[in-house]
Amino acid sequence: MIKEKMKYSVDKNGYYGKFGGAYIPEMLYPNVEELRENYLQIMESAEFREQFSKLLKDYVGRPTPLFLAERLSDKYNARIYLKREDLCHTGAHKVNNTIGQIILARKLGKRKIIAETGAGQHGVATATVCALMGMECIVYMGSVDMERQKPNVERMRILGTQVEPAKSGSQTLKDATNEAMRHWINNPTDTHYIIGSVVGPHPYPDMVTRFQSVISEEIRFQLKEAEGTEHPDYVLACVGGGSNAAGAFYHFLDHDDVHLVAVEAAGHGVGSGESAATTALGKPGVLHGSKTLLMQTADGQVIEPYSISAGLDYPGIGPIHAHLFNTGRVKFMNATDEEAMKAGIELSRLEGIIPAIESAHAFAALQKLDFKPDDVVVINLSGRGDKDLETYIKWGKY
Ligand SMILES: *Cc1c(COP(=O)(O)O)cnc(C)c1O
Repeated sequence: MIKEKMKYSVDKNGYYGKFGGAYIPEMLYPNVEELRENYLQIMESAEFREQFSKLLKDYVGRPTPLFLAERLSDKYNARIYLKREDLCHTGAHKVNNTIGQIILARKLGKRKIIAETGAGQHGVATATVCALMGMECIVYMGSVDMERQKPNVERMRILGTQVEPAKSGSQTLKDATNEAMRHWINNPTDTHYIIGSVVGPHPYPDMVTRFQSVISEEIRFQLKEAEGTEHPDYVLACVGGGSNAAGAFYHFLDHDDVHLVAVEAAGHGVGSGESAATTALGKPGVLHGSKTLLMQTADGQVIEPYSISAGLDYPGIGPIHAHLFNTGRVKFMNATDEEAMKAGIELSRLEGIIPAIESAHAFAALQKLDFKPDDVVVINLSGRGDKDLETYIKWGKY
């Protein structure tokens, strides 16, 4: 897929600068090692690439359009393009990764899939590809989250997935992750664990980044056609764990003239105690198997994040983003609930597109950036807003 050595690539030990690595219990070592030894070779094989691109085309609906948003462009005085990941099958970019991982799992001879999910979006994307491939699937989900995200639980069940409640601790994402790990330790040979963002132990962050890099690969040729250049002046994306951003940035990382902007969820405000703005509030530590930036107390307890959007409600960021933040290659900004909701309504009114509230955070950054009229700006529209209708209704101001 991507062979050339790039400046911000993971090193051979699984690190991005001082972030990354594989901080895992010894019992999990054989599983992760099997993946590490094989993922690049499989992903670069002609057979894999053919199968991956065929499914992305015929099943996911790629390439997704790059749409010149004229009314939004007028408002912000720049040439603003939307990368329409909201038009992917299942309504967001997450399926790019689950398609890639399930093909890889089959090449490794795995017959069963496990995953963890918080809001349920990754669970649905995993259940979808398991149905497609006829693979058995268990998704772990905190019992509190199952209660909060009932439609996604039912979606997974309709797709034939077993949704397993995690009943320990706070009964949310971190407990679901623990249960999934435990299952994987006990079933190392026949099971693959599909992680949903650029997080987790090496090689997951690199593997997921490569699967999602199809986004910037397409932006390049689509912009070439539309603007006569492969390189925009800006790329904006929201960051939860960071997979849609990593994918949208990937092919521009080595081109310093492309400004890359990541937008985190500030929740009720960075200083409010209810936020998910990891780069503003976080310190280095270990989360979900890798060294990264995370929100934690002075004695290292993970702080519960908060955001109105379930997909950005995560206490850390992937190690690639911790590195991109530290080196200054990517500018990190944040948007509050209020700012994101307003930006979501604005996009609906100006372009007839109701965005996922996660994606709306990226649009909220538009008013905080200073564009020149001929600047070409690409916003990664990571998902559609159908799943968020209830949140829009509750917010009410439209
Ligand atoms: C899950 C999700 C996100 C956040 O995840 P990343 O890994 O940061 O991309 C963003 N947008 C949508 C629509 C999502 O479903």
